[in-house]
Amino acid sequence: MLPWRFLHPRMWAFNARNTFHTLIDTLQGAPPRALRARDYVARHATPGDADSVLAALDRYAIEERWLMSVGPEKGPLLSEMIGRLPDGARVLELGAYCGYSAIMICQRLAPPGNLVSVEVSSQNAEATRDNVAAAGFADRVDVRVGSSSDEIPKLQGPFDLVFLDHWKDLYKTDLQLLEKHGLLRPGSIVVADNTGDLFSPHAYVDYVRTCGRYDSESREASIEYYSHLPDAVEVSVYRGPDAP
Ligand code: CA
Repeated sequence: MLPWRFLHPRMWAFNARNTFHTLIDTLQGAPPRALRARDYVARHATPGDADSVLAALDRYAIEERWLMSVGPEKGPLLSEMIGRLPDGARVLELGAYCGYSAIMICQRLAPPGNLVSVEVSSQNAEATRDNVAAAGFADRVDVRVGSSSDEIPKLQGPFDLVFLDHWKDLYKTDLQLLEKHGLLRPGSIVVADNTGDLFSPHAYVDYVRTCGRYDSESREASIEYYSHLPDAVEVSVYRGPDAP
């Protein structure tokens, strides 16, 4: 992602707050943000109550430190897509962070459906495992630690839905890797977060709209926990490898 995107005037308040908090945390030698969010959940959420875990993460993101979780405004769109899946569906997520989206997916995913979540940061993966367990979904989420390019070839497919929410510049190459390894089936839904102008992975959006293998549309959204900052989510349905 190009750094200048963060210099857009709309991003100034967002940047100022996050830069200030990051500076304080660095000076204080604070643990990684995801682990602090995990500890906040442990103190404030009710074990086994997924709604209370999500509410604790929302409260932490608003009152303490911003979290790049899908959040309560975009979350319902993800839930809507999960709701379209058949019973026993398999879901893949690239970018787990604190486990917020994993919990939201499991809430809507009909049993025995399950989720594989690939996360490059071992600390984020630890936070995800603990938060998912706190929400009561430990047996339905398989968290894999590693880079997406290393982990994708090891996966068994196909997946009925893929949620892309990791490093935006990897969206296109990782989607092509999923295709190459046969991890999508005709009808698989690919949901890509943060495809609006501020973060836009243009190469990815161009690819899903023009390669002929997807029926793709953009859904309006806002940056997580910043409802005045416009964003978008790209929803693409795979037509198959031989689609024109
Ligand atoms: Ca995101």
